Amino acid sequence: MAVPALRQPKKVVREKPKIFLDDVQNVILTLKENKSLVISSDAYHGIIRGRDMYRCVFCCKDMELDIKLKESHKNSEKHKKVMENYPHEEDFGENLIRKHQNDTYYCSLCNVVVLTPFLKRHIMTEAHEQELDKAIARVAAYQPSE
Ligand SMILES: [Zn+2]
Ligand SMILES: [Zn+2]
Repeated sequence: MAVPALRQPKKVVREKPKIFLDDVQNVILTLKENKSLVISSDAYHGIIRGRDMYRCVFCCKDMELDIKLKESHKNSEKHKKVMENYPHEEDFGENLIRKHQNDTYYCSLCNVVVLTPFLKRHIMTEAHEQELDKAIARVAAYQPSE
């Protein structure tokens, strides 16, 4: 069986035509050593979008696909309290990993729940690295222009 000598890099099929700032709320995180990352507010809060619902992975709560409901959940005292129990693990630094449950972690960069045995592998995936690159690149957009 012939093996291609050089694999073609995957092409981005289609970019979103336009992202209005109001559609995606971002959160700026300042890490140690003055490193900053910008990720979406939903990813930061553990809100995963399903086909017909939002789920808060930390509160284990499903919600209707309603932005107002989702935003009010993120701002609720209950959610904020729950989030205090899930800080980003210092050991993982800029990879923004929160411990989720006994056998799972949550990656805030990728907005996904990862099983513990696959966590190391997840961090090394191209998809994760791309999300990290994006989070770093977005910081530039938030720098005050002179
Ligand atoms: Zn919640
Ligand atoms: Zn990730």
